[in-house]
Amino acid sequence: MIHLHDKTFEAFISSEEIDFAIKNMAKQMDDDFFNEIPVFVGVLNGAFMVMADLMKQYRGMCEVSFVKMASYEGTQSTNEVKQLIGLNQDLEGRTVIIVEDIVDTGNTIEELKAILKDKKVKHLKIATLFLKPDAFKKDIKLDYVGIRIPNKFIVGYGLDYDGLGRNLADVYQLAE
Ligand code: 5GP
Ligand code: MG
Repeated sequence: MIHLHDKTFEAFISSEEIDFAIKNMAKQMDDDFFNEIPVFVGVLNGAFMVMADLMKQYRGMCEVSFVKMASYEGTQSTNEVKQLIGLNQDLEGRTVIIVEDIVDTGNTIEELKAILKDKKVKHLKIATLFLKPDAFKKDIKLDYVGIRIPNKFIVGYGLDYDGLGRNLADVYQLAE
């Protein structure tokens, strides 16, 4: 059990399970992009840890970049999604893989895809370490999914509760 602010969280997904899922994602990506140099774009802040571990497992040549958006306040997803900042790279003709920590409703991914629409990328792929299939109702293809989880609020491995918990190596869920 851990305590962050006013809430208690219990152990949910170990760093070993995360490691296994990330190795599988990297292997799939290596198979898919062996003859090109893709651009991995991590979505800050949450994706900083999955990006670091995924990039260490990816064997091919690649570029690494980060952007920032936010759609979350506390434990409730809001419908308001902010703008993209930090994309200062020409993506024209490139294979771009968006790397997310978690896809919940899919609003963030939808917004990201809309913003990147006029960047003339060759292929736009989506990768996420965690997915909540029961919350995700968008008609958007998620190309690489690490671990599917129930509709629970999780922290750790890059994910926070009001700023805390991002540095935890394991993932915890809100205790009932
Ligand atoms: P979506 O736009 O798909 O509803 O939510 C995506 C973003 O919401 C994620 O990138 C993440 O920042 C945040 N989010 C969604 N579910 C969770 C969760 O269970 N825990 C935490 N800490 N953040 C979440
Ligand atoms: Mg995120």
